[in-house]
Amino acid sequence: MRINALPSGNGFSFEITHGLENSLARAGTISTPHGDVATPAFIPVGTKATVKAVLPETMKDLGAQALLSNAYHLYLQPGSDIIDDAGGLSRFMNWPGPTFTDSGGFQVLSLGVGFKKVLAMDAQTFRSDEVVAGNKERLAHVDDDGVTFKSHIDGSMHRFTPEISMRVQHQIGADIIFAFDECTTLHNTRSYQEKALERTRAWGIRCLDEHQKLTLERSEKPYQALYGVIQGAQYEDLRKKAATDMAALRSSDPENPIAFDGFGLGGALDKKTLGTILTWMNEILPVEKPRHLLGIGAPEDLFVGVDNGIDTFDCVLASRIARTSAVYTMEGRYNLSNAANRRAFEPIDSECDCYTCTHYTKAYVHHLFRGKEINAATLATIHNERFIVRLVDQMRAALIAGDYPEMKAEFMGRYKHLSGQARD
Ligand SMILES: [Zn+2]
Repeated sequence: MRINALPSGNGFSFEITHGLENSLARAGTISTPHGDVATPAFIPVGTKATVKAVLPETMKDLGAQALLSNAYHLYLQPGSDIIDDAGGLSRFMNWPGPTFTDSGGFQVLSLGVGFKKVLAMDAQTFRSDEVVAGNKERLAHVDDDGVTFKSHIDGSMHRFTPEISMRVQHQIGADIIFAFDECTTLHNTRSYQEKALERTRAWGIRCLDEHQKLTLERSEKPYQALYGVIQGAQYEDLRKKAATDMAALRSSDPENPIAFDGFGLGGALDKKTLGTILTWMNEILPVEKPRHLLGIGAPEDLFVGVDNGIDTFDCVLASRIARTSAVYTMEGRYNLSNAANRRAFEPIDSECDCYTCTHYTKAYVHHLFRGKEINAATLATIHNERFIVRLVDQMRAALIAGDYPEMKAEFMGRYKHLSGQARD
């Protein structure tokens, strides 16, 4: 059943093939110049053009359809001009499939206030606009034109504006790129959230203008789709306003005003209200455009995302926890370093079809972790990335088969929750 399709012609399109009654959930296909992504899909994160400890070939083998890297990190190192000269991100990292880049807005601000990866999911206790993590120097300053920040690598000063973020992302050359936004935390005051939202809207127009200009200038390059980012923190009116505004936003070219190709749903999100907040936005956003949920990847949160109309997800959680020896199974998460695994001559997850589970035992990977061997991270990451990629693939298959509610009930009945939000 073909429900909706965006016109193609520039190499980017989105087609929704299946829906779920009385729900925002849908399955479809995003087409990009580097290939298709069957949705819903989990997009593993290779922040610096590499998934830590795992080769791109292995990511392909474990079912990853696309990878997401980071404009902020790649701008600082090796430099987006080098990736441009290499022929773009896909060629540079030997990943022939589709790629995404995050705009750098989140990274500039989260690293800038010293929180690094975590914009706390349960930060209800205080409100301040000057929040900086304990003992950290504030490294980023926002004004209406952009953000000035200090490199977390060498302390050098840099500036990102919407135009610079677009230029950097065009040089990197991912198939799907994001507008530069101001990502607030749940700590910010309501009045600051309003100010930041207006700033993100104004930056959205500047991103569209610069993107349009660069697309023309670099017309020999594969088309890059630009997603607008919806912020608004935990406030219903702000989330709805952001969704309405970003959906209506156009570039200022009177001859050919372009719109966003899709949307990224961003900001610090409270786990308890994730579903409600997604519904606020996705009931407003145009149904025919793809939606990406930024930085969410715990199994139970992926179901909430799919339930509420999310098409793609990215999250560093699967690989990050793997490196600390935490692994997913259908029963929940556990830690491979635990002594109980010393003589466990069985796979990490007996139901898993990944390379690690079909070739190695818990006891062996436990030994590698205890011995601080590099291959511990490789084997655990392969398992976790496969687990999450496959889980979202199973959701997609269930949406197509028409038994998604049953599949979800079965999973949630077995899986013991423990989760978080994480972006790099
Ligand atoms: Zn496995």
